[in-house]
Amino acid sequence: MIGVIEKTLSANHSHASQVSASLHVQHAGLISKVNHSCNPSCGISVNESGAHDFIAFRTIEQGEEITFDYAMRNYSIDYFPDPCLCGEATCRVHVDGWKGLSINKRLEYKGFIAPYLLQMKDKDSSTS
Ligand SMILES: [Zn+2]
Repeated sequence: MIGVIEKTLSANHSHASQVSASLHVQHAGLISKVNHSCNPSCGISVNESGAHDFIAFRTIEQGEEITFDYAMRNYSIDYFPDPCLCGEATCRVHVDGWKGLSINKRLEYKGFIAPYLLQMKDKDSSTS
């Protein structure tokens, strides 16, 4: 799924995408509607425009919902149900973004995340 940035935002909101340490954008089309999963089918790849494309992270079965892990693009997630409602057996329950992601999960997502996350300092994470 190809990402297109519709507009830059002055603040985060529930359908915003974080594209750098300090910038949130609104993606056009269905990108902003794709649900979170703690066992996602897609990951993030930044395209030439700076928007997020969704890349298959594993085999996606016919009829299966396309999902990604919000921690793949958001250092901190401010708008999310607590506990998580993804229903996966491996659900993390408390989803607070890249800052709270385990080292193992970070390694699993290698190559499928927004690159700026690798430059963020883990000031408030116990997983760094
Ligand atoms: Zn979950």
